[in-house]
Amino acid sequence: MMVEVMTEEGKLNENLCWSIGLPEGWQPLYEGLIRKIFAVDASARVVDAKEKFGEMRVYMAEYDEAVFALIDVANAKSRTICQKCGGRAVLSRTADGFFATVCSNHADGFLPATSSPLRHVRMVVPKSDLWDPDRDDW
Ligand SMILES: [Zn+2]
Repeated sequence: MMVEVMTEEGKLNENLCWSIGLPEGWQPLYEGLIRKIFAVDASARVVDAKEKFGEMRVYMAEYDEAVFALIDVANAKSRTICQKCGGRAVLSRTADGFFATVCSNHADGFLPATSSPLRHVRMVVPKSDLWDPDRDDW
């Protein structure tokens, strides 16, 4: 019985292939992200990569903290890179709520968005040594 073993290089190429589904302007950002992920975890496997609400979203089969942090940075960067041409851009939206990250050349019908519908919500847990409810002086 043949058992197909995928080399690390094969996994890298397979992950890079997901760039096809992304807007052209983000493909260099995506490729850079995949190479960074590969450097920290050669077995990491992308299961989806797409534009969603004007942001680049990359989904992995499994996450570890280092990979998650890299994706987080790339996600934030995608909100500053025109998805059409790779130029400097801002997350923008149309009057009817369609989001895209576009530069001034590609912003027809778009206005800068004041917030992302997908803004990551992080729980801020106060450290006990920084916050003492019995010593609450504010
Ligand atoms: Zn552009």
